[in-house]
Amino acid sequence: MRIGILALQGGFAEHAQILQSLNIQSFEIRKKEDLSQPMNGLILPGGESTTIGKLLKDLDMFDELKSIIEKGMPVFGTCAGMILLAKEIDGKSVAHFSAIDIRVKRNAYGRQLGSFFVEAEFKGIGTIPMTFIRAPYIESAGANVEILSVVDNNIVAAKENNVLVTSYHPELTHDNSIHKYFVDTFIK
Ligand code: GLN
Repeated sequence: MRIGILALQGGFAEHAQILQSLNIQSFEIRKKEDLSQPMNGLILPGGESTTIGKLLKDLDMFDELKSIIEKGMPVFGTCAGMILLAKEIDGKSVAHFSAIDIRVKRNAYGRQLGSFFVEAEFKGIGTIPMTFIRAPYIESAGANVEILSVVDNNIVAAKENNVLVTSYHPELTHDNSIHKYFVDTFIK
C-alpha cells in the first residue's frame, strides 16, 4: 500500500511519520507528474488552505487532483485539508474540491486564541488526543455525512463516501489511531 501526501505547504512531513509508525509507505506529491504515481490513498495536510489552493492552480494540479478524488480515491484531509475538501466555506462564494457535503467555518476559534488541545471521542475508536491550530469547524453537514467527533457542540470530524476530514491534527500527536482508521475503513 502506498499513500500520497500533498506536500506543497504545511504539515505534510508529520503525516509521513505517522504512516511510517504503521509501516505504511507514503510519497510526497509536489508536482503534477507525482499524481500519476500509483497510490491507494491521499492525504491533504494542514497549513493554509488559501495558499495550498493557489499553489494547486499555479502548478496546474488542481483539476487532476479533483478528478482523482471524484473518481473515488480515499482521501483524508486535516484542518486546511478539510477546508479544501468541503463543499461550502463560510464567507466564500467558491469552494475548492467540493468533495464532502459540509459547510466549514475557517479560523472558527479566533485567530489569536485559536490553538488548543483536548481529549475527546472519535466514533468507533474512543477518546483520542486532538490538537487544534487556527482550526475550522463544521457548521453544518448533509444527511449522508457521518459525524465522527463533536467538541463543545461543534462538529470536528466527519466522513462521507471516500472522504474523511478532521478539524484537528492527529499527525501532531503520538496517536496513530485515526490514520489506522483511515486505512482500515477506506482502503483495506
Ligand atoms: N486556518 C487555516 C486555513 O484556513 C487552517 C489551519 C491549519 O491547517 N492548521 O486554511
